[in-house]
Amino acid sequence: MTNPIIPYGRQSISEADINAVIDVLRSDWLTQGPAIEQFEQAVAAYSGASYAVAVNSATSALHIACLAAGLAKGDTLWTSPNTFVASANCGLYCGADVDFVDIDPRTYNLSVAELEKKLVQARENGTLPKVVVPVHFAGQSCEMDRITALAREYGFSVIEDASHAIGGKYQGAAVGNCRFSDMTVFSFHPVKIITTGEGGIVLTNRRDLYEQLVRLRSHGITRDPALMEGDSHGPWYYQQIELGFNYRITDIQAALGLSQMQRLDEFVYRRHELVERYNVELAYLPLVLPFQHPDTWSAFHLYVIRLQLDRIAKTHRQVFEELREAGILVNLHYIPVHTQPYYRALGFRDGDFPAAESYYQEAISIPLYASLTRVDQDRVIAALREALR
Ligand SMILES: *Cc1c(COP(=O)(O)O)cnc(C)c1O
Repeated sequence: MTNPIIPYGRQSISEADINAVIDVLRSDWLTQGPAIEQFEQAVAAYSGASYAVAVNSATSALHIACLAAGLAKGDTLWTSPNTFVASANCGLYCGADVDFVDIDPRTYNLSVAELEKKLVQARENGTLPKVVVPVHFAGQSCEMDRITALAREYGFSVIEDASHAIGGKYQGAAVGNCRFSDMTVFSFHPVKIITTGEGGIVLTNRRDLYEQLVRLRSHGITRDPALMEGDSHGPWYYQQIELGFNYRITDIQAALGLSQMQRLDEFVYRRHELVERYNVELAYLPLVLPFQHPDTWSAFHLYVIRLQLDRIAKTHRQVFEELREAGILVNLHYIPVHTQPYYRALGFRDGDFPAAESYYQEAISIPLYASLTRVDQDRVIAALREALR
C-alpha cells in the first residue's frame, strides 16, 4: 500500500462547521441574509477594526480596496514580487500601472529599505505610487510602523494583503486592526488559515471607505436617499451611482466562516506547535528555516524552507521532485510575479528584483496545516532528511 499524499495546506472542517452550513440551507436566506453581517462583525471584532466588508474572494477584496483608495488610470500601485498574482493584478484591474519592491532576504516580505530607496527615486522622477500593497508573506506581518511612516511622508495609501495572516499579530495587536493602513484584506480560500470555500474581506477604520466598499461589492447601487440624485421614487427605489460589481459572498459561505472563526486561535496555535517541531527537527539540515521578526507573531500560513544549495549535491528541482515522489505535496510560494509572461509583456525582466528571484531558486513550502498529524509530520521530516542526505 502506498502512503497517502500529504498536501502543503488544507482546510479543517468540523461537525459544527457542517451544521452551521446546513442551518443556512434550511433557512430563508441563501445569500444576503443575517450570516454575512454576523461574520463581518466577528472578523472586525477579532481584528480590532471598525468595519468589515465580506466579498466572494480576496482578489475581489483587493480590487474594491484599490478602487476605494482612488486608484485609477495614470496611477501606480507597488507591491512585493514574492506574492500571488492577485496582489498586483488588482492594480491592473483599475487601469493603473504596477511596479514592485524587492524583498527582504530574511523575512521574504517587501523590504522597507528598498521601498524607501525607490520612493526617493520616484519623488525625483515624479512617479510616486498612489497605493502600496504590503503582503504579509507566510502569515508574518511586514514592518508596518516603518511603512506607515513612509506613507505619511510620501502620501500613498496602504492596503495590507493579509491573505496569509488572519490570526497573526504585529507589535502585540491583531493583524487587521488597520492602525498602520487604510485597509486590510484577508482571504478565506481553503488553504488559508480559516475558510469560507471561496471568500475574502476588507477591513477598515474609515466610514467613508466602508460605505464605498459596500456599494462596490454590489453594482455601485445605493438605497440611501441622501446619496441619490433627485428624490426617491418609492420603497423599491435604488440608484446606481458608480460602477460596481457582483462580488457578494453568500450566507452559506459566511456561516462557514463564522463557525471557523471560533477555532481561529486554536488553528494558529496548532500551526505554531508544528512549526516549533519543524524548527527543532530540521535544524541541522542544509536549510534556512523561517526567520521571525521580533515584532511579529505569525499566523504561519506557510512553512518555507530555503535550500543551501552549496551544501547539497542536488538541484532545487531534484529535491522538490523527490519530495513529491515520496507523496509530500510540497509547493513553491512564489514565482516572482514580474517574471510571469503577462508582466514580462509589460516590460519587466529577469534581474529586476534579484532578492525575490534568488529566493525563488531555493524555496520550498512544506506541509503545514492545523489538522496535520504528528505521524504525517514525521513522514515529511523523514522525507526531507532522505532527500538532503
Ligand atoms: C490567496 C491569496 C490571494 C487571493 O485570494 P483569493 O481569496 O483566492 O482570491 C491574494 N493574495 C495572496 C497573498 C494570497 O495568498
